[in-house]
Amino acid sequence: MHCPFCRNPDSRVVDSRTSDDGTSIRRRRQCTECGRRFTTTETASLSVVKRSGVLEPFRREKVIEGVRKAVRGRPVTDADLAGVAQAVEETIRATGASQIDANEIGLAVLPPLRELDEVAYLRFASVYNAFDSLDDFEAAIRALREDQAHAVDAEEER
Ligand SMILES: [Zn+2]
Repeated sequence: MHCPFCRNPDSRVVDSRTSDDGTSIRRRRQCTECGRRFTTTETASLSVVKRSGVLEPFRREKVIEGVRKAVRGRPVTDADLAGVAQAVEETIRATGASQIDANEIGLAVLPPLRELDEVAYLRFASVYNAFDSLDDFEAAIRALREDQAHAVDAEEER
């Protein structure tokens, strides 16, 4: 990377820091020519394979866009959505893959969204899993209820 001030191609790293979410490294660099300092961010490449076969870089904003419709009218903030997108990125990066299918992102959205808002989760799951009957909704709601019951049991046992 060229120095942004003088275009010199050489710089030395004076400090490296991993971001809080662990997905990128920020390096403080000093130009060997003009001595000025600048910061670079290094992120492992992660591409999404769209249904058409086209590759595009993974972006959290796309995850948020995908979930936004499901949370409409629900008590969910932009910070909550950012949290879902972060969880999705962490889940995907934890697999070590550099390419993932778009539908794997949908799968990774389900657990954090469920944690956040059950109605939004049902809406998202209905589109993502292509629910086509009331039975599908009933099955999903039953699964939510059963998990809630287990959570209560677990608390009572403590
Ligand atoms: Zn320079």
